[in-house]
Amino acid sequence: MKVVMLIDMDYFYVACEELRNPELKNKPTVVGAHPKEGKGRGVVLTCNYAARKYGLRSGMPISTAYKLKPDANYLPADFFYYEDKSKEAMAIIRNMCSRMEQVSIDEAYAAIDSLKDYGEAMAYGEKIKSEIKSKSGLPCSVGISYNKFMAKMSCESAKPNGIKIVSETEAKGFLNDIPVGKMYGVGSKTGERLERMGYHTIGDLSHAKIMTLIGEFGSLGLELHNHANGIDESEIIENYDVKSIGREVTFENDTNDTALITKTIEKLSDDTMGDVSKQNLSFRTVTLKVRYHDFTEHLKSKSIKPSNNSEDIKRVALELYNLHVNKNIKIRKLGVRVSKLTKYEMQKRLF
Ligand SMILES: [Mg+2]
Repeated sequence: MKVVMLIDMDYFYVACEELRNPELKNKPTVVGAHPKEGKGRGVVLTCNYAARKYGLRSGMPISTAYKLKPDANYLPADFFYYEDKSKEAMAIIRNMCSRMEQVSIDEAYAAIDSLKDYGEAMAYGEKIKSEIKSKSGLPCSVGISYNKFMAKMSCESAKPNGIKIVSETEAKGFLNDIPVGKMYGVGSKTGERLERMGYHTIGDLSHAKIMTLIGEFGSLGLELHNHANGIDESEIIENYDVKSIGREVTFENDTNDTALITKTIEKLSDDTMGDVSKQNLSFRTVTLKVRYHDFTEHLKSKSIKPSNNSEDIKRVALELYNLHVNKNIKIRKLGVRVSKLTKYEMQKRLF
């Protein structure tokens, strides 16, 4: 039987912080930009459920969060630590499944081939969940179903710290009353357009004419229609064993010298590509990691078409630097990293 699971770590950055500082547990805690007494710029990256009770959400401006809960714990991000914790959790999942596709630092699809029925799938999902908890200390939610889209939707309804199974026969009933805006892959703009067209729930959308949706949204229209009917043919694309490859450097003296930083990014890009080539891989995502002199960190990523060219790493990393790095603050540490790695030969077959 085909079983697909989505394993998603709960409030991941804050959960990591709670591990090394148990005092934070059950207290409203935010990882993100510095609130600066409500004048801070930037956003909440993650907050725990104690903070969500006060209306705080990830992606919210940090100034808004501060207005809602000024006495929450506000912590800067420590991506170096979160990546280590992510590797631990992902290794546990990888060892327990037939195929795995990591989609972000805290989320992975897993296919398990040996299960006979949904009863076994549920027991196995519980086992993965408890292994992750006992070995890495981190809570997660698990969605179990027959394709990736349905596993994702199941997982969303299981959060936090839950597990939810939706079988093929249950799919339509499960999706029917969910608002279109909550459908995976529907952003706020698409959600508004769907609402205006009179589709308020996924059930409404499932009855829409395919041609109407294609006329309005192009190829996305077909995907919307399929998803609304619980159909998703996309495969789990196994990521290579190595999740990401990158290089980092700590400056001898903290710096905001653009010329030096540009040169450093170029060098890190070349070195990273050297490591990627040795393993005959190509990449899709480039990440620039910056630790400022005050130890706050920024992590920005962008995905492109599969590439095995260091010029692409440089171009994207410099673009991320120019767009997102505060040039007034001195940098202590800089990292360039690529991910979404695939074997180069395999990529040639796919494209
Ligand atoms: Mg998560």
